[in-house]
Amino acid sequence: MSISTDAPPDQKPIILDFSRSELEREVVEVLGQSKFRAKQIWQALHRECIPDFESVTTLPKGLREELARRYTSDPLVKVMHLTSADGSTDKALFRLGDGELVETVLMRYSADGHRKARKTVCVSTQAGCALGCTFCATGQQGFRRQLTTGEIVAQIIFMQRIALAEDRSEVKDGARELGSVQGVTNVVFMGMGEPLANYENTMSAIRSINDANGLAVGARHITLSTVGLAPQIVRLARENIQINLAVSLHAPDDATRSQTMPINRRYPISVLLDACRRYVEMTDRRIFFEYVLLQDQNDRLRHARRLGELLSGMLCHVNLIPVNPTSEGPYQRTSRADAERFQLELRRYGVPSTVRIEKGIDIDAGCGQLRARVVDSSFAAR
Ligand code: SAH
Ligand code: SF4
Repeated sequence: MSISTDAPPDQKPIILDFSRSELEREVVEVLGQSKFRAKQIWQALHRECIPDFESVTTLPKGLREELARRYTSDPLVKVMHLTSADGSTDKALFRLGDGELVETVLMRYSADGHRKARKTVCVSTQAGCALGCTFCATGQQGFRRQLTTGEIVAQIIFMQRIALAEDRSEVKDGARELGSVQGVTNVVFMGMGEPLANYENTMSAIRSINDANGLAVGARHITLSTVGLAPQIVRLARENIQINLAVSLHAPDDATRSQTMPINRRYPISVLLDACRRYVEMTDRRIFFEYVLLQDQNDRLRHARRLGELLSGMLCHVNLIPVNPTSEGPYQRTSRADAERFQLELRRYGVPSTVRIEKGIDIDAGCGQLRARVVDSSFAAR
């Protein structure tokens, strides 16, 4: 029996769409090979991040050729790749098999205080997004389609190739200790699209990247960000997986939230917070609330007070993010001083928060911004 992947009918199946057990079944039942071959293929693609079957020299030549005839090993075609002036951030724009465009970002953080150095990949889960948040470049572009599991996993594999290569060259130069090649350490589902609106493929991508024989990104180093789809938050709580959940709140009351986030009319704050409380109860894990600061819209002290009242006593942490202005959005960035005043006010309610420093502003690293730029100049359509 052949296991179907989500590849469009006129294209070869994407081998990265398979989970480990699905790949095993495919290799045994369709290719008539041993389980051991499935393990070798998985490791070559997910751990060593080899881009094409031909280069998987642990496999016999005939099998490599058969794999190449039947499957796509890498569903992404790079259209653009930028590095920020300070070298901390890479951003890539990819074309998928059917021409859709998605973005992926790699952010490098050096060690600070108790936190180790890390490399975080920000992945997209949909081409476009249907939810229309007014400050978001992706939301302004509308929904195109769901990404498959393999299209999500391949974004991390692409960045892993870069991360591993630079780790290895640092070891060679003596700037890094032998044995400290770690590649990508963290993954955030904060790129284009709403991950909980592509629930199955997102969860299966999380399981693939978490696999110990593959990318082996620890569950506690994976963060999923949602616009606040209340029923799916409760469903996620039942998954028994130790990932972090971030919820885009962005306002302390329904009137303010509905102005920028249309989803608030379907799941208003009381319904959303009920789901969040259930999540915390069921998982015993804190929730991260994201709060994009939009000048004069939601960043005044009265907003901080209401937010403090709303979240007081809950196991949570607030990330305050000065907005990355988009080409069409009317919003301005809140000043650092105002962000800190907001934070102080929250502290009075015992609500912990961090002002997040945005990376890659000079390369449009904000969600959906690179695609917007490329489509505006109709560069990538060719
Ligand atoms: N759809 C999910 C995940 C992708 S967006 C969500 O909305 O949570 C990831 C985060 O980036 C969200 O918190 C989103 O509100 C935020 N974001 C979107 N546009 C932004 C902008 N222009 N500046 C700063 N953050 C933005
Ligand atoms: Fe979609 Fe998230 Fe952007 Fe809102 S912020 S439009 S949910 S990607």
